[in-house]
Amino acid sequence: MKSSFSLGKVKGIQLEVNISWFVIFGLVTFTLATSYFPQNYPDWDPVLYWFLGSTIALLLFASVLLHELAHSLVSASQGIPVSKISLFIFGGLAQIEKEPDEPGKELKIAIVGPATSILLYVLFMFLAKIVAFFAISEVAVVLLTYVADVNLVLAIFNMVPAFPLDGGRVLRALIWYFKGNLQNATKIASLMGSIFGYFLIFIGILGVLTGLVINGIWFIFIGWFINQASQSSYEQMVMSDIFNKIHVSEFMSENIMLVDSHLSVQELVDNYFYKYRFASFPVGKNDEVIGIIDRNSIMNIPREAWSQTAVSNIIVPLQDNLIVSPDDTVTVAMTKLFSNGIGRVLVMDQTRLRGIVSRTDILNYIRIHSQLNQEK
Ligand SMILES: [Zn+2]
Repeated sequence: MKSSFSLGKVKGIQLEVNISWFVIFGLVTFTLATSYFPQNYPDWDPVLYWFLGSTIALLLFASVLLHELAHSLVSASQGIPVSKISLFIFGGLAQIEKEPDEPGKELKIAIVGPATSILLYVLFMFLAKIVAFFAISEVAVVLLTYVADVNLVLAIFNMVPAFPLDGGRVLRALIWYFKGNLQNATKIASLMGSIFGYFLIFIGILGVLTGLVINGIWFIFIGWFINQASQSSYEQMVMSDIFNKIHVSEFMSENIMLVDSHLSVQELVDNYFYKYRFASFPVGKNDEVIGIIDRNSIMNIPREAWSQTAVSNIIVPLQDNLIVSPDDTVTVAMTKLFSNGIGRVLVMDQTRLRGIVSRTDILNYIRIHSQLNQEK
């Protein structure tokens, strides 16, 4: 089952609605139509309650979309592309493809979201005042004021300095700017995120204990979500730090076996694949590396032909996405080994073969790194 639906594209940014959003849409409509409006405007027509409830839910949706779109457009203008915006359970998420490389960029990208919400608050409030002034419709005034207020709440909530909320990003950008250390800034901002998360959970529990069960559960849920998100964004940041700072030479396998290209496939299978159980081997001709051979290429050759076929006939010849230099980063190696169809890259120092990197090498390195860092 598909978990999201596409709404189309704006300036190359894919807009998606996660199915969880429909649940929220239903909940918001239901709560407004069955409790908020009947309590506050008891003599209105029940049909009107449902109309107002669903219209507000839709306008809320449009507001969140504009908020996220603002983040995305500013991000793109700062040279950080955004592939898509997913609208999901708590609003939206602009999938910004990488972390900003300067605090100034992060500040602009973060702050424009709440700024948009404030702008929407002013706009809806203004419309409400006009409609009220000309006494056009009481219902419209109520509707516009409600949407305005929700945008104000959205702006204030997002400006709480708790990472990964927008305010937390602003805080991070400021610490980053003044102290010059992104990782440390992320650590502090994430800690604030965790604290805020626990605070909301605490308020939620108080709510539940004092009879405000539904509101309490909401607070617990949102608090838990922010808490999780702040921790995982910190881990992600540490991870991307590994990816961009660690060089291939630090985790490549150096025990390499160069297969002679004159060998037959049969010899290759008997003397290499069975014996050493690697999934692929670099192939050389007079000690010069000419390509790579993996099990899949052998599976395309009928078994009867194995002893007549030379390895050189079925190698994958050396090409850019099979080679990294010892100074390349994990990111470069990952990008190549996930795209070249072999799952490995050769580490070459000019023409000299220095090592080989597989997915397992990278995963093991990350595992060891995170284990050792946890114990500090
Ligand atoms: Zn935002």
